[in-house]
Amino acid sequence: MSESIADRLARVRQTVAEAALRSGRRPEDVLIIGVTKTVPLVLIEEAWAAGLQHFGENRVQEAEEKITAWRAAHPERQATWHLIGHLQTNKARTAVSLFEMIQSIDSLRVAEAVSRRAVQAGRTVPVLLEVNVGGEPTKYGFHPDAVIEAAGQVARLPGLRIVGLMTVAPLVADPEAVRPVFRRLRELRDRLQIHYPSIPWQHLSMGMTNDYVVAIEEGATMVRLGRAIFGERPA
Ligand SMILES: *Cc1c(COP(=O)(O)O)cnc(C)c1O
Repeated sequence: MSESIADRLARVRQTVAEAALRSGRRPEDVLIIGVTKTVPLVLIEEAWAAGLQHFGENRVQEAEEKITAWRAAHPERQATWHLIGHLQTNKARTAVSLFEMIQSIDSLRVAEAVSRRAVQAGRTVPVLLEVNVGGEPTKYGFHPDAVIEAAGQVARLPGLRIVGLMTVAPLVADPEAVRPVFRRLRELRDRLQIHYPSIPWQHLSMGMTNDYVVAIEEGATMVRLGRAIFGERPA
């Protein structure tokens, strides 16, 4: 552990700002989400002290322990927690109680489960539709050809509000290789905007440690960064 979280975050912020400016946007138009899966609370505290306020978890069970402990320890802190991994429908109620935003709405079934639990909780949950842009069989997400119709169905559900799209690009050595994936998500967003002008399609959550610079250049408004901020995860 040569480098501190504050050092890493400073470097990430600089890189994000440069990429945003290159894409004709302001640095503050790109939200950095610290991905805290496998990261212990003490390091999340360190990131918070360095100014990070948005966090992402991909598993409800792991998140439940952490977020509950975090809220008990710091009821005054307004951290925002994002669910970024596949949600099993039997965990929808817990997810609605834990997360401010659910980015991984990857099927109509998941959307319906979140809707039902959100209505019961008296909440309106902001959500992103997850798109499997590459059509990879091992990945969750709407097929790009299905998302236009699905968006109409999800938009009719009570208790949630679509605010954009999310994708996980294939893991490749050269981030330039996934630029077309990010570009396609942006183009899909543009088509959805025309189809459903009353939905605020403001967010494109795309880009992780390996490829966030390219994602920002292609229009990302949220990048989900684990290793760039917290270092390598234990194997
Ligand atoms: C783990 C994870 C990330 C962060 O990955 P890094 O390579 O550590 O930046 C982002 N998004 C999702 C959905 C993840 O599961």
